[in-house]
Amino acid sequence: MNPAAPLRLLLDSAALAANWRWFAQRSGTAACGAAVKADGYGLGAAEVVPRLADAGCRDFFVTTWGEARAIAAETAGLSVSVLHGVREEDLPAALASPARPVLNSVNMVARWKAAAPGRPCDVMIDTGMNRLGLSAAEAASGLLDGLRIETLMSHLACADDPGDALNGRQRERFAAVAAAVPAGRASLANSAGICLGADYAFDLTRPGLGLYGGVPAPGAAGQVRPVARIEAAVLQVRDVPAGEIVGYGGTFVAPAAIRAAILNIGYADGYFRRLGPAGAAWAGSTRCPVLGLVSMDLLAVNVTGADVAEGDWLEIERDLPAAAAASGLSQYELLTGLGHRYQRRWT
Ligand SMILES: *Cc1c(COP(=O)(O)O)cnc(C)c1O
Repeated sequence: MNPAAPLRLLLDSAALAANWRWFAQRSGTAACGAAVKADGYGLGAAEVVPRLADAGCRDFFVTTWGEARAIAAETAGLSVSVLHGVREEDLPAALASPARPVLNSVNMVARWKAAAPGRPCDVMIDTGMNRLGLSAAEAASGLLDGLRIETLMSHLACADDPGDALNGRQRERFAAVAAAVPAGRASLANSAGICLGADYAFDLTRPGLGLYGGVPAPGAAGQVRPVARIEAAVLQVRDVPAGEIVGYGGTFVAPAAIRAAILNIGYADGYFRRLGPAGAAWAGSTRCPVLGLVSMDLLAVNVTGADVAEGDWLEIERDLPAAAAASGLSQYELLTGLGHRYQRRWT
């Protein structure tokens, strides 16, 4: 029997599917895939994949061969691309897997040609981000001759800012490479890239963040639905007299007598210390602000005047764009930081 976790993520299948359909519709005639790396951005890839497949998604993107294996049962018959490509020590797993490596470097191209002649692969072109990928010159050098390229891709560096001039330059450089390199499909846009418009979609898009409730660009505000809610159990309720402190370092001093609830969530659960100052939990319709510093496993909130008892569950306030703006953390960090101590409950 699984122990009853005092912390849970309430995950909304309908919202996940609706978000994918929104990005699919915004992708126009292009197919819409899904980035499910980092365990589905912290929500649980093995649960996310079948829900997206039911919605119509056929193309999935992970980081490593370990991540590909973790969703192998859920992706039978579907397309999986491994973004970090194939190192020498990845070859046994890669050759045993139906997933395709995304070849990023000259060495990787040579390795795949030698180890898996004629087997399909994907290729990443660097068009200005200077992260992973072959240069346009390398792609034009004949290096790729003989490869069976399923998806030719590149990645946008600044798509969350629609006004950034690099977006258009990357799009043009990618279009030029795609016109010269034979491949099944061309793919450029992540969530924010899809919001830049139809001419960024090419044949296949690769949203991640927006599927999970993040708002990738101004144009997606009000369109993307939250997917995950957090509820934490109240482990104890206590009266704090005026003048006494709450938590490490005594950073909070009660200005008057208050009542505090101690919740089973902390920074090891992705409730980072920087979320504390603007953070709160909800007891019904009462907003209960965080008191003092966030601990590793615990969080104190002010429940003065609210009807809260030991054993209750409180919902943690969580608006991804607002929390990111208030904390200086990215929405990506807030999602992927959630950790493994939640009971993940899908409805
Ligand atoms: C993570 C990633 C994506 C998804 O990006 P989002 O910004 O989360 O939509 C797409 N493509 C590549 C290459 C990625 O690494």
